[in-house]
Amino acid sequence: MNFTRDKHPAALGKNESAATGRPYNPFTVAQQQFDRIADILDLDKPTRDLLRYPMREYHFSIPVRMDNGGTQIFRGFRVQHNDARGPGKGGVRFHPLETIDTIRALAMLMTWKCSVVDIPLGGSKGGIICDPHNLSRHEIEQLCRGWVRQIARDIGPHIDVPAPDVMTNPQDMLWMLDEFEIIHGGKYPGFITGKPINIGGSRGRKQATGYMVVHTIREALKELNIKPENTTASIQGFGNVAQYACELYHRIGGTVICVSSWDPVDNATFCCRKKTGIIFDEIASVTDPFGTIDRVKAEDLGYEILPGEAWLEQEVDILIPAALENQITAENVGKISPKVKLIAEGANGPTTPEADAALEARKVFIIPDIICNAGGVTCSYFEQVQGNMNYYWEEKEVIEKLEAKMTSAFYAVYEIAKKRKLSMRDAAYALAIDRVAQACKDRGWI
Ligand code: NAD
Repeated sequence: MNFTRDKHPAALGKNESAATGRPYNPFTVAQQQFDRIADILDLDKPTRDLLRYPMREYHFSIPVRMDNGGTQIFRGFRVQHNDARGPGKGGVRFHPLETIDTIRALAMLMTWKCSVVDIPLGGSKGGIICDPHNLSRHEIEQLCRGWVRQIARDIGPHIDVPAPDVMTNPQDMLWMLDEFEIIHGGKYPGFITGKPINIGGSRGRKQATGYMVVHTIREALKELNIKPENTTASIQGFGNVAQYACELYHRIGGTVICVSSWDPVDNATFCCRKKTGIIFDEIASVTDPFGTIDRVKAEDLGYEILPGEAWLEQEVDILIPAALENQITAENVGKISPKVKLIAEGANGPTTPEADAALEARKVFIIPDIICNAGGVTCSYFEQVQGNMNYYWEEKEVIEKLEAKMTSAFYAVYEIAKKRKLSMRDAAYALAIDRVAQACKDRGWI
């Protein structure tokens, strides 16, 4: 089999670079990005001191009675970065290599993301160190309920609202909601988003992030004067975001030639490539619910199996990182083909600041994470709005509303970028951070 084993970057420790072993602490990276923009906006010291760190964070243990009768203790987190513009909002991740610094970075990103798309929410994130591949349905339910029991007094519809993220799904959200309602004695549909559609979920939520990644690609291609049907793409990951992005990108005429995946059994990453274009249904049929592709079956279907980093070395027009943070780094940015014109950040924080600077120098158009993947949180906000009205929209209406919100955020950022001669990332962060700083000032916090 043509397969090379690549270590999962996070497995090396504090998200070290696989090439050099140098640490990429995601929170340090997020703070560096913030500092850059704080300089551009000339923020005062109290504002910097407030926004550089989370306002609150919770670390806790979750005991779970396992199916074999024993008890296992899991570590859980919730980080609330800033809630000046509204209740905190952010997903809960299940990952065996989760770290508090990743959660801190992602909570900060959520604050900027909600701000850039102008929805009345702040930023939070949570997680549990675990691998759901190795847990039974009953054990996962106990883990979800246990996470809520530890944090139930400090989150809620008007405080901080969780949602699904890496390796969590609508069923997990429903167990969390149920536990919260048992503890608080009532019905609180606004406690959590990403619920199943038959119990308060929004139509279009599962597609929202991936579809809106492609919506922003479509807008960027218009500005670059390129027709989608003349483009090819390579995607890192094949989970929720990647799959819906892949499906819609194919529908607008593009061709994905490479997707990638992580196999927790041997902690290996790998890519599946078909130069004539992958067939979505074919790859989806050999992928588990956590986005792990069965590489033996994919090879049997005629796909080339390549090392984990091969997705970014492809000669394509568009790269879509849709797996984890810190994937495009100073060490591998040079391997990106000169053909690549556009990078759409489906994942949160996939590009380190050094790699970002190198790509900017090469004039690659980057749609930064806080706009590119903001379709998910925007749809979560729509889920809350529908829940408050107790009236639910059809999928078409949800998608139309999402497109309107995303288009206006994309062009608000694009105009700032052109006017102030900033990169798309700096323009997006400047718009977002300025709004949050203003909200803190208006409240009299600083
Ligand atoms: P997911 O768990 O559904 O899928 C993750 C995918 O990435 C899987 O295919 C997994 O095999 C793959 N993967 C993990 N590590 C990898 C590696 N090192 N190399 C290659 N592949 C790897 O997760 P998701 O919900 O699709 O989220 C993906 C990214 O998008 C994350 O950064 C997440 O924070 C971000 N995001 C998700 C949403 C959402 O609505 N789901 C919204 C905004 C941002």
